Amino acid sequence: DRVISSEAQGHEEWEERSLRPQTLSQYIGQKKVKDNLTVFIEAAKIREESLDHVLLYGPPGLGKTTLSMIIANEMNVNLRTTSGPAIERPGDLAAILTALEPGDVLFIDEIHRLNRAVEEVLYPAMEDFSLDIVIGKGPSARSVRLDLPPFTLVGATTRAGMLSAPLRDRFGVVSRLEYYTFDELAEIVERTAQVMEVEIDKKAAEEIATRSRGTPRIANRLLRRVRDFAQVRGDGDIRIAITKEALELLQVDQLGLDEIDHKLILNVIEKFRGGPVGLDTIAATIGEESHTIEDVYEPYLLQIGFLQRTPRGRIVTPQAYHHFQLEVPRS
Ligand code: ADP
Repeated sequence: DRVISSEAQGHEEWEERSLRPQTLSQYIGQKKVKDNLTVFIEAAKIREESLDHVLLYGPPGLGKTTLSMIIANEMNVNLRTTSGPAIERPGDLAAILTALEPGDVLFIDEIHRLNRAVEEVLYPAMEDFSLDIVIGKGPSARSVRLDLPPFTLVGATTRAGMLSAPLRDRFGVVSRLEYYTFDELAEIVERTAQVMEVEIDKKAAEEIATRSRGTPRIANRLLRRVRDFAQVRGDGDIRIAITKEALELLQVDQLGLDEIDHKLILNVIEKFRGGPVGLDTIAATIGEESHTIEDVYEPYLLQIGFLQRTPRGRIVTPQAYHHFQLEVPRS
Protein backbone atom coordinates (compact mmCIF):
# COMPACT_ATOMS: atom_id res chain seq x y z
CA ASP A 1 0.00 0.00 0.00
CA ARG A 2 1.23 3.47 -0.81
CA VAL A 3 1.81 5.57 2.27
CA ILE A 4 0.35 8.53 0.38
CA SER A 5 -2.81 6.74 -0.75
CA SER A 6 -5.93 8.77 0.05
CA GLU A 7 -8.04 5.66 0.66
CA ALA A 8 -8.27 4.17 4.16
CA GLN A 9 -6.04 1.11 4.53
CA GLY A 10 -6.84 -2.09 6.48
CA HIS A 11 -6.79 -1.40 10.20
CA GLU A 12 -6.98 2.36 9.72
CA GLU A 13 -10.71 2.73 9.99
CA TRP A 14 -10.46 1.75 13.60
CA GLU A 15 -7.56 4.13 14.30
CA GLU A 16 -9.32 6.94 12.49
CA ARG A 17 -12.38 6.64 14.66
CA SER A 18 -10.67 8.10 17.71
CA LEU A 19 -9.08 10.91 15.71
CA ARG A 20 -12.28 12.22 14.19
CA PRO A 21 -13.44 15.67 15.26
CA GLN A 22 -16.87 15.45 16.94
CA THR A 23 -18.30 18.92 16.40
CA LEU A 24 -18.36 21.49 13.60
CA SER A 25 -16.11 23.77 15.64
CA GLN A 26 -13.45 21.04 15.89
CA TYR A 27 -13.68 20.38 12.16
CA ILE A 28 -10.82 22.33 10.59
CA GLY A 29 -11.11 24.08 7.21
CA GLN A 30 -13.90 23.72 4.59
CA LYS A 31 -15.22 27.07 5.80
CA LYS A 32 -17.95 27.43 3.18
CA VAL A 33 -19.36 23.97 3.80
CA LYS A 34 -19.21 24.50 7.55
CA ASP A 35 -20.86 27.94 7.43
CA ASN A 36 -23.71 26.59 5.35
CA LEU A 37 -24.25 23.54 7.49
CA THR A 38 -24.19 25.62 10.66
CA VAL A 39 -27.11 27.71 9.41
CA PHE A 40 -29.10 24.75 8.07
CA ILE A 41 -28.64 22.74 11.26
CA GLU A 42 -29.64 25.70 13.42
CA ALA A 43 -32.73 26.36 11.30
CA ALA A 44 -33.80 22.71 11.32
CA LYS A 45 -33.45 22.65 15.09
CA ILE A 46 -35.56 25.81 15.51
CA ARG A 47 -38.29 24.33 13.30
CA GLU A 48 -37.91 20.97 15.03
CA GLU A 49 -37.62 19.31 11.66
CA SER A 50 -35.13 16.87 10.23
CA LEU A 51 -32.26 18.43 8.33
CA ASP A 52 -32.56 18.52 4.54
CA HIS A 53 -30.73 15.76 2.64
CA VAL A 54 -27.04 16.54 2.15
CA LEU A 55 -24.75 15.46 -0.68
CA LEU A 56 -21.01 15.70 -0.01
CA TYR A 57 -18.60 15.21 -2.86
CA GLY A 58 -14.86 15.38 -3.30
CA PRO A 59 -11.74 13.17 -3.32
CA PRO A 60 -11.26 10.43 -0.69
CA GLY A 61 -9.85 11.34 2.72
CA LEU A 62 -11.14 14.93 2.85
CA GLY A 63 -13.62 14.37 5.66
CA LYS A 64 -16.98 13.31 4.21
CA THR A 65 -17.59 10.47 6.66
CA THR A 66 -16.44 12.69 9.50
CA LEU A 67 -18.91 15.41 8.51
CA SER A 68 -21.80 12.95 8.44
CA MET A 69 -20.95 11.95 12.02
CA ILE A 70 -20.74 15.59 13.04
CA ILE A 71 -24.11 16.35 11.45
CA ALA A 72 -25.77 13.54 13.44
CA ASN A 73 -23.97 14.69 16.56
CA GLU A 74 -24.98 18.35 16.14
CA MET A 75 -28.59 17.33 15.46
CA ASN A 76 -28.56 15.01 18.51
CA VAL A 77 -29.76 12.05 16.50
CA ASN A 78 -28.48 8.57 15.68
CA LEU A 79 -26.26 7.87 12.71
CA ARG A 80 -26.72 4.81 10.53
CA THR A 81 -23.83 4.13 8.15
CA THR A 82 -23.81 2.07 4.96
CA SER A 83 -22.47 2.26 1.42
CA GLY A 84 -23.72 2.04 -2.14
CA PRO A 85 -22.23 -1.38 -2.94
CA ALA A 86 -23.43 -2.83 0.40
CA ILE A 87 -27.11 -2.28 -0.45
CA GLU A 88 -27.68 -4.95 -3.05
CA ARG A 89 -31.46 -5.27 -3.21
CA PRO A 90 -34.44 -2.93 -2.65
CA GLY A 91 -35.33 -5.06 0.38
CA ASP A 92 -31.95 -4.27 1.98
CA LEU A 93 -32.67 -0.56 1.76
CA ALA A 94 -36.26 -1.02 2.97
CA ALA A 95 -34.94 -2.82 6.05
CA ILE A 96 -32.56 0.05 6.81
CA LEU A 97 -35.17 2.75 6.27
CA THR A 98 -37.89 1.15 8.37
CA ALA A 99 -35.48 0.78 11.28
CA LEU A 100 -34.72 4.53 11.43
CA GLU A 101 -35.99 6.71 14.25
CA PRO A 102 -37.41 10.19 13.60
CA GLY A 103 -34.68 12.65 12.60
CA ASP A 104 -31.93 10.03 12.20
CA VAL A 105 -29.08 10.52 9.77
CA LEU A 106 -28.53 7.79 7.20
CA PHE A 107 -25.06 8.00 5.68
CA ILE A 108 -24.54 6.27 2.34
CA ASP A 109 -20.90 6.31 1.26
CA GLU A 110 -20.11 5.79 -2.44
CA ILE A 111 -23.70 6.63 -3.21
CA HIS A 112 -22.95 6.71 -6.96
CA ARG A 113 -22.63 2.93 -6.78
CA LEU A 114 -26.26 2.26 -5.80
CA ASN A 115 -27.98 0.12 -8.37
CA ARG A 116 -31.00 1.35 -10.27
CA ALA A 117 -33.62 -0.76 -8.47
CA VAL A 118 -32.37 0.42 -5.08
CA GLU A 119 -32.22 4.03 -6.25
CA GLU A 120 -35.88 3.89 -7.19
CA VAL A 121 -36.83 2.92 -3.66
CA LEU A 122 -34.82 5.86 -2.41
CA TYR A 123 -36.68 8.54 -4.43
CA PRO A 124 -40.07 8.44 -2.61
CA ALA A 125 -38.24 7.84 0.65
CA MET A 126 -36.25 11.06 0.24
CA GLU A 127 -39.13 13.06 -1.15
CA ASP A 128 -42.17 12.08 0.92
CA PHE A 129 -40.67 9.79 3.57
CA SER A 130 -42.60 6.90 2.15
CA LEU A 131 -41.78 3.45 0.94
CA ASP A 132 -43.54 1.61 -1.86
CA ILE A 133 -43.24 -2.11 -1.47
CA VAL A 134 -44.63 -4.88 -3.59
CA ILE A 135 -46.27 -7.74 -1.74
CA GLY A 136 -46.75 -11.12 -3.40
CA LYS A 137 -45.80 -12.31 -6.84
CA GLY A 138 -47.40 -12.58 -10.26
CA PRO A 139 -51.00 -11.48 -10.86
CA SER A 140 -51.82 -11.21 -7.16
CA ALA A 141 -48.92 -8.85 -6.47
CA ARG A 142 -49.90 -5.45 -5.15
CA SER A 143 -48.10 -2.33 -4.08
CA VAL A 144 -48.37 -0.98 -0.55
CA ARG A 145 -47.24 2.44 0.61
CA LEU A 146 -45.63 2.68 4.05
CA ASP A 147 -44.83 5.85 5.98
CA LEU A 148 -41.27 6.32 7.12
CA PRO A 149 -40.06 8.55 9.93
CA PRO A 150 -38.55 11.81 8.66
CA PHE A 151 -34.80 11.32 8.26
CA THR A 152 -31.76 12.99 6.72
CA LEU A 153 -29.86 11.25 4.00
CA VAL A 154 -26.20 12.20 3.80
CA GLY A 155 -24.70 10.87 0.59
CA ALA A 156 -20.99 10.88 -0.15
CA THR A 157 -19.30 10.42 -3.49
CA THR A 158 -15.91 11.01 -5.00
CA ARG A 159 -17.53 11.88 -8.30
CA ALA A 160 -20.68 13.99 -8.40
CA GLY A 161 -20.77 13.51 -12.16
CA MET A 162 -21.47 9.83 -11.75
CA LEU A 163 -24.68 10.40 -9.81
CA SER A 164 -27.93 10.09 -11.76
CA ALA A 165 -29.73 13.42 -12.23
CA PRO A 166 -32.93 12.35 -10.42
CA LEU A 167 -30.93 11.32 -7.37
CA ARG A 168 -28.80 14.48 -7.36
CA ASP A 169 -31.91 16.66 -7.62
CA ARG A 170 -33.34 15.22 -4.43
CA PHE A 171 -30.59 16.65 -2.25
CA GLY A 172 -31.41 20.04 -0.73
CA VAL A 173 -27.80 20.73 0.20
CA VAL A 174 -24.96 19.91 -2.19
CA SER A 175 -21.45 20.63 -0.90
CA ARG A 176 -18.11 20.12 -2.48
CA LEU A 177 -15.13 19.46 -0.22
CA GLU A 178 -11.87 21.06 -1.31
CA TYR A 179 -8.26 20.02 -0.78
CA TYR A 180 -6.94 21.56 2.45
CA THR A 181 -4.45 24.39 2.62
CA PHE A 182 -1.01 24.04 4.17
CA ASP A 183 -2.07 25.95 7.32
CA GLU A 184 -5.18 23.83 7.77
CA LEU A 185 -3.20 20.61 7.41
CA ALA A 186 -0.62 21.77 9.94
CA GLU A 187 -3.45 22.55 12.34
CA ILE A 188 -4.98 19.10 11.75
CA VAL A 189 -1.62 17.44 12.46
CA GLU A 190 -1.26 19.41 15.69
CA ARG A 191 -4.77 18.53 16.75
CA THR A 192 -4.27 14.84 15.99
CA ALA A 193 -0.98 14.81 17.92
CA GLN A 194 -2.84 16.27 20.87
CA VAL A 195 -5.48 13.53 20.67
CA MET A 196 -2.68 10.93 20.48
CA GLU A 197 -0.97 12.64 23.42
CA VAL A 198 2.39 13.13 21.74
CA GLU A 199 4.53 16.25 21.71
CA ILE A 200 5.14 17.77 18.29
CA ASP A 201 7.16 20.82 17.18
CA LYS A 202 5.45 23.37 14.98
CA LYS A 203 8.14 22.80 12.34
CA ALA A 204 7.54 19.06 12.39
CA ALA A 205 3.78 19.54 11.98
CA GLU A 206 4.46 21.82 9.02
CA GLU A 207 6.85 19.33 7.47
CA ILE A 208 4.16 16.66 7.59
CA ALA A 209 1.57 19.12 6.25
CA THR A 210 3.60 19.95 3.13
CA ARG A 211 3.81 16.29 2.21
CA SER A 212 0.15 15.39 2.81
CA ARG A 213 -1.26 16.12 -0.64
CA GLY A 214 -3.97 18.41 0.73
CA THR A 215 -5.58 15.42 2.46
CA PRO A 216 -6.20 14.99 6.22
CA ARG A 217 -6.21 11.20 5.97
CA ILE A 218 -2.67 11.27 4.57
CA ALA A 219 -1.56 13.86 7.13
CA ASN A 220 -2.79 11.66 9.98
CA ARG A 221 -1.18 8.57 8.47
CA LEU A 222 2.20 10.25 8.02
CA LEU A 223 1.96 11.53 11.58
CA ARG A 224 1.38 8.00 12.88
CA ARG A 225 4.37 6.66 10.97
CA VAL A 226 6.59 9.49 12.19
CA ARG A 227 5.40 8.87 15.74
CA ASP A 228 6.45 5.20 15.49
CA PHE A 229 9.83 6.32 14.30
CA ALA A 230 10.19 8.87 17.09
CA GLN A 231 9.30 6.26 19.67
CA VAL A 232 11.79 3.70 18.42
CA ARG A 233 14.66 5.92 17.37
CA GLY A 234 14.12 8.94 19.58
CA ASP A 235 12.59 9.88 22.92
CA GLY A 236 9.01 9.77 21.62
CA ASP A 237 8.68 13.51 20.99
CA ILE A 238 8.19 14.50 17.38
CA ARG A 239 10.93 16.95 16.42
CA ILE A 240 11.83 18.30 13.03
CA ALA A 241 15.03 16.26 12.55
CA ILE A 242 13.43 12.92 13.25
CA THR A 243 10.41 13.86 11.15
CA LYS A 244 12.61 14.56 8.14
CA GLU A 245 14.48 11.33 8.67
CA ALA A 246 11.28 9.29 8.89
CA LEU A 247 9.75 10.90 5.81
CA GLU A 248 12.96 10.29 3.92
CA LEU A 249 12.72 6.60 4.75
CA LEU A 250 9.08 6.53 3.73
CA GLN A 251 10.20 7.96 0.38
CA VAL A 252 7.71 10.79 0.38
CA ASP A 253 9.25 13.90 -1.15
CA GLN A 254 8.72 17.61 -0.37
CA LEU A 255 5.45 17.69 -2.30
CA GLY A 256 4.13 14.38 -1.07
CA LEU A 257 5.16 12.51 -4.20
CA ASP A 258 6.38 8.93 -3.95
CA GLU A 259 8.29 6.63 -6.32
CA ILE A 260 5.26 5.86 -8.44
CA ASP A 261 4.62 9.55 -9.09
CA HIS A 262 8.31 10.01 -9.88
CA LYS A 263 8.31 7.04 -12.21
CA LEU A 264 5.26 8.29 -14.06
CA ILE A 265 6.55 11.83 -14.58
CA LEU A 266 10.14 10.83 -15.39
CA ASN A 267 8.91 8.24 -17.82
CA VAL A 268 6.94 10.82 -19.81
CA ILE A 269 9.94 13.16 -19.71
CA GLU A 270 12.55 10.58 -20.72
CA LYS A 271 10.64 8.46 -23.20
CA PHE A 272 8.25 11.00 -24.71
CA ARG A 273 10.07 14.32 -24.32
CA GLY A 274 7.40 15.44 -21.87
CA GLY A 275 4.45 14.49 -24.11
CA PRO A 276 1.80 14.77 -25.33
CA VAL A 277 1.40 11.06 -24.85
CA GLY A 278 -1.74 8.95 -24.53
CA LEU A 279 -2.83 7.49 -21.22
CA ASP A 280 -2.71 3.92 -22.54
CA THR A 281 0.86 4.38 -23.72
CA ILE A 282 1.92 5.70 -20.32
CA ALA A 283 0.14 2.77 -18.68
CA ALA A 284 1.92 0.23 -20.87
CA THR A 285 5.38 1.70 -20.30
CA ILE A 286 5.11 1.86 -16.52
CA GLY A 287 3.18 -1.40 -16.17
CA GLU A 288 -0.03 -0.08 -14.65
CA GLU A 289 -3.68 -0.15 -15.73
CA SER A 290 -4.89 3.02 -17.47
CA HIS A 291 -7.83 3.44 -15.12
CA THR A 292 -5.54 3.13 -12.07
CA ILE A 293 -3.44 5.95 -13.43
CA GLU A 294 -6.52 8.00 -14.13
CA ASP A 295 -8.24 7.42 -10.77
CA VAL A 296 -5.32 7.05 -8.38
CA TYR A 297 -2.03 8.50 -9.61
CA GLU A 298 -3.03 11.30 -11.90
CA PRO A 299 -5.49 13.48 -9.90
CA TYR A 300 -2.91 14.90 -7.53
CA LEU A 301 -0.37 15.46 -10.31
CA LEU A 302 -3.03 17.39 -12.22
CA GLN A 303 -4.00 19.27 -9.05
CA ILE A 304 -0.45 20.53 -8.42
CA GLY A 305 -0.02 21.34 -12.10
CA PHE A 306 2.70 18.80 -12.91
CA LEU A 307 0.62 17.12 -15.55
CA GLN A 308 -1.84 18.55 -18.02
CA ARG A 309 -4.60 16.81 -19.91
CA THR A 310 -4.90 17.79 -23.55
CA PRO A 311 -6.90 16.27 -26.41
CA ARG A 312 -3.62 14.84 -27.73
CA GLY A 313 -2.58 13.25 -24.45
CA ARG A 314 -0.81 14.06 -21.22
CA ILE A 315 1.88 16.75 -21.02
CA VAL A 316 4.46 17.23 -18.28
CA THR A 317 4.64 20.93 -17.33
CA PRO A 318 7.76 23.05 -16.78
CA GLN A 319 6.99 23.02 -13.03
CA ALA A 320 7.54 19.27 -12.97
CA TYR A 321 10.86 19.66 -14.81
CA HIS A 322 11.93 22.21 -12.20
CA HIS A 323 10.94 19.90 -9.36
CA PHE A 324 13.25 17.21 -10.74
CA GLN A 325 15.91 19.83 -11.54
CA LEU A 326 15.75 19.01 -15.22
CA GLU A 327 15.97 21.41 -18.10
CA VAL A 328 12.76 22.06 -19.98
CA PRO A 329 13.28 20.96 -23.61
CA ARG A 330 12.90 23.61 -26.30
CA SER A 331 10.02 22.89 -28.62
P1 ADP B 1 -13.69 10.64 3.59
O1 ADP B 1 -14.99 10.09 4.15
O2 ADP B 1 -13.90 11.89 2.79
O3 ADP B 1 -12.88 9.62 2.84
P2 ADP B 1 -12.93 10.81 6.39
O4 ADP B 1 -14.08 11.56 6.95
O5 ADP B 1 -12.91 9.33 6.64
O6 ADP B 1 -12.79 11.10 4.83
O7 ADP B 1 -11.60 11.49 6.97
C1 ADP B 1 -10.34 10.85 6.94
C2 ADP B 1 -9.53 11.20 8.18
O8 ADP B 1 -9.18 12.58 8.14
C3 ADP B 1 -10.26 10.98 9.50
O9 ADP B 1 -9.38 10.32 10.39
C4 ADP B 1 -10.56 12.36 10.05
O10 ADP B 1 -10.32 12.37 11.43
C5 ADP B 1 -9.57 13.26 9.34
N1 ADP B 1 -10.22 14.52 8.97
C6 ADP B 1 -10.94 14.74 7.85
N2 ADP B 1 -11.37 16.01 7.80
C7 ADP B 1 -10.90 16.63 8.89
C8 ADP B 1 -11.00 17.97 9.38
N3 ADP B 1 -11.66 18.92 8.70
N4 ADP B 1 -10.41 18.28 10.55
C9 ADP B 1 -9.73 17.32 11.22
N5 ADP B 1 -9.59 16.04 10.80
C10 ADP B 1 -10.16 15.68 9.65
